[in-house]
Amino acid sequence: MMETKNLRFETKLIHGGEPSPLIERAVTMPIFQSSTYEIGESLTGEINYNDIKYVRLNNTPNHLALHEKIAQLEFAEAALVSSSGMASISSALLGLVGQGEHLMAQDNLYGGTLHFLKEFFPKMGRDVTFFPAEDTANLNKYLKPNTRAVYVESISNPLLKIPDLRAVVNFAKSHGLVSMIDNTFPSPMNFNPIPFGFDVALHSATKYLNGHSDVVAGVMVSSFDLIKKVTPLFNHLGGCLDPHACFLLHRGIKTLGVRVGYQNESALKISEALEKCSKVAKVIYPGLKSHPDHLRAKEWFRGFGGMVSFEFNGSTEQADAALKQLKIPFLAPSLGGVESLYVRPSTASHSGISRTDREKLGIKDTLVRVSIGLENTQDLIEDFTRVLN
Ligand code: PLP
Repeated sequence: MMETKNLRFETKLIHGGEPSPLIERAVTMPIFQSSTYEIGESLTGEINYNDIKYVRLNNTPNHLALHEKIAQLEFAEAALVSSSGMASISSALLGLVGQGEHLMAQDNLYGGTLHFLKEFFPKMGRDVTFFPAEDTANLNKYLKPNTRAVYVESISNPLLKIPDLRAVVNFAKSHGLVSMIDNTFPSPMNFNPIPFGFDVALHSATKYLNGHSDVVAGVMVSSFDLIKKVTPLFNHLGGCLDPHACFLLHRGIKTLGVRVGYQNESALKISEALEKCSKVAKVIYPGLKSHPDHLRAKEWFRGFGGMVSFEFNGSTEQADAALKQLKIPFLAPSLGGVESLYVRPSTASHSGISRTDREKLGIKDTLVRVSIGLENTQDLIEDFTRVLN
């Protein structure tokens, strides 16, 4: 394997984790479409189940190459892919917070994670307390004797809040807690939680890492020890990534730098244009000076990301009627792809949460979340300003 650990991000995207020597001189990692592998001499005698090569165990050549590439991008020791962001998130949470133990989680989270923690985590014998993203100065209030881990998002979905990540890391370290962060929105291009001090970073690789809206995948990034701790549970829950999906994700990752670099620039210009639209009551984008966490984003992130949210100035019916006139972005859930997408989170990612709970979190029904794609920035500005004025 080429020594890439000390090379720069864009070079690691292309060469990190690639086989060396090349397999049959192929310059891209071939797909190993084999579910099982012959037991070699090294595995005879007392075989450890987790060492058998099998797709469900996420340890075939396609998985291993991806693990190494993603670990390098996040400056981490190890990575473990899975069949979806939620497979990684739920398995990591169940693997690291045991029965009878307690989790502290930020209240403003991706709807699927929030629903899992509210509805299913307690039924599985785990306890969870939510704290407001703004209340990181008082984390002690939420601590219990059995607290095991703390969970946040680097940029929350859909309100794009950035909690005081420094306070979260320091708190976790001083109380011996495992600190976990969903780093999907910034992607490793804009932020690396592990060198920042987090123990575990999670991604929906469906989004920016793959970047083409054609794969569903997830990844947990951490130390060798924590990955080793959760691997048996991941293996039994069975959320494995198919080799062909590994190949697509691997291919998608190589262009992460150029994609997210462009999206950072485009989203900033589009949010500035949206601020001037008469039918926009408020624009939420970490790159804008008006964003409450702008200074944190500026200090910690290399770019502000491709996600922009705004509140429509009018009723939900008026919002839907106006947005229907958009020609370029699709009305669709998910994000991080080459095509621009938009949703009203109350009808998509956060429809599983009651309206009362959504309102408590500040997610209005007129909130619109846009994932900026790779279309021409000016074309997108003209499309949005036409329907929002
Ligand atoms: N985390 C965040 C921030 C997300 O936005 C999503 C999906 O939208 C997920 C996790 C879940 O990912 P997946 O759909 O790959 O399971």
